Amino acid sequence: MQYEVDKLGFYGKYGGAFIPELLHSNVEELEDNYLKIINSDSFQKEFRALLRDYVGRPSPLYFAKRLSEKYNTKIYLKREDLNHTGAHKINNTIGQILLAKRLGKTRIIAETGAGQHGVATATVCALMDLQCVVYMGEIDIARQAPNVSRMKMLGAEVRPAKSGSKTLKDATNEAIRDWINNPKDTYYLIGSVVGPHPYPDMVALFQSVISEEIKKQLKDKENRDYPDRIIACIGGGSNAAGAYYHYLDDEKVELVSVEAAGLGINSGESAATSVLGSDGVIHGSMTKLMQDKDGQIIEPYSISAGLDYPGIGPLHAHLIESGRSKVLNATDEEAIKAGLLLTRLEGIIPALESAHALAALEKIEFKPEEVTVVNLSGRGDKDMKAYLKNT
Ligand SMILES: *Cc1c(COP(=O)(O)O)cnc(C)c1O
Repeated sequence: MQYEVDKLGFYGKYGGAFIPELLHSNVEELEDNYLKIINSDSFQKEFRALLRDYVGRPSPLYFAKRLSEKYNTKIYLKREDLNHTGAHKINNTIGQILLAKRLGKTRIIAETGAGQHGVATATVCALMDLQCVVYMGEIDIARQAPNVSRMKMLGAEVRPAKSGSKTLKDATNEAIRDWINNPKDTYYLIGSVVGPHPYPDMVALFQSVISEEIKKQLKDKENRDYPDRIIACIGGGSNAAGAYYHYLDDEKVELVSVEAAGLGINSGESAATSVLGSDGVIHGSMTKLMQDKDGQIIEPYSISAGLDYPGIGPLHAHLIESGRSKVLNATDEEAIKAGLLLTRLEGIIPALESAHALAALEKIEFKPEEVTVVNLSGRGDKDMKAYLKNT
């Protein structure tokens, strides 16, 4: 595969493991074991059973008739919003926790910005009876109170990160410090296709069930196992990686990634990393990120908490650089509008993240016979306030 990670953990010039010396043994343990464990029969059996009976997979591939009529083409929605906990993140969380158990770990740590990854982690820790500590910036704790309550109810300890800007990157620093101090019993669970190798590859593998299912479902519905185009939003890029995975080498499938433009690309309040970013190291890997001339991270902004991230995963940096994927972006306003449109045409309230992917429909010229799949990464219950405030 041209877009597969190489032995050193790189996608082209992006990726790798840029980590402090003190983390080498932790990351090495993971790198030496992850493929062996994931590919074993016993792992696959347990993973697949949980995806089916606990998450509710396969998620439907729904032909959106009225939305298709509006754009005069064929549009399918991959319904990750119907998963347990309401988004795609649970696919990865289950995979990594099963892996952690097989590595003999008894304690799970994670960082979370909006709290979605924290909730998915706390959920599976409750299921598996594992200790769970979630680091979260103090400001984010205040902003995302409902998710903090959910994590606590599920039995997780939410630890505030009080340094720096008191947001996601500070929570990440705290989680990494914890992992360094507790290398034996603790597993660090990353929520997107970011972080040092092997995390991006591992998370993409767990999310690849999305495109595995799309192939089968399209074969049934369209009598061919590929669409002409797949559209997904990217924060770190895990739902997109999962939706693209089995089509990466199939160049007849156009891959469209949608970034959050916030108040506008050049407004200073944006998260459009591929346009505004440059090459550098963030969260242990070489990728594209938003930074100033001194290499300080520029705080991103988007109305959608899940897209409010200053980097993108190294796989996406490579897909964009090589021209394999095409990047569009959507502002807060365009996303809100697209979310409301889907709600009224199809009776589906999408997560604001997913609404960015839907907003791209306005920017593409379709042929009537073309088949487009939009990955509907999550449901919009959590975003009601933002939707109502903007109508
Ligand atoms: C977290 C989240 C995202 C963004 O994360 P990716 O890793 O880019 O997929 C997108 N949609 C929803 C619903 C989310 O919760």
